[in-house]
Amino acid sequence: MNFLRHEFNGSEVSIEPDGAVYPCCVKTKLPLGSLLEDNLIEILESLAGVPAYEAITMGHPERMGIASGWSEQDFLAHSRTQRPDGAGYANLCIGCDRFHEQMLGPVLDEARQRRRAAKGLADGTAAPRRVVAIAPRER
Ligand code: SF4
Repeated sequence: MNFLRHEFNGSEVSIEPDGAVYPCCVKTKLPLGSLLEDNLIEILESLAGVPAYEAITMGHPERMGIASGWSEQDFLAHSRTQRPDGAGYANLCIGCDRFHEQMLGPVLDEARQRRRAAKGLADGTAAPRRVVAIAPRER
């Protein structure tokens, strides 16, 4: 919640050791971006205004698909599953994963391409890495 409001208190993201950025500690099915390619503010600002991520940042993941044709009822239906013992189980994170799988891959790719283009990088070109040489210690 509030992850897009990075200029205010209470904005949090989750970052994996490999640089992958997520909007929550549960982690969405797809990362928002990678710190190996972009800084955190670039990633967050590239997703401001994207309806699905605005819904998540407002604390209403069940509304993340409304602009894409998934009503709240559709989202809740996608949030249900069955436990191994056959009992029903529902969790909004399940719907969130399914929406990421089905709808958000191209949205995240477009945001990444916009970040690349803003840096003057061609599609798929990685940003130049800073290489730091460490001299061996003298004994
Ligand atoms: S609904 Fe999505 S964004 Fe919200 S906690 Fe679950 S996985 Fe994270």
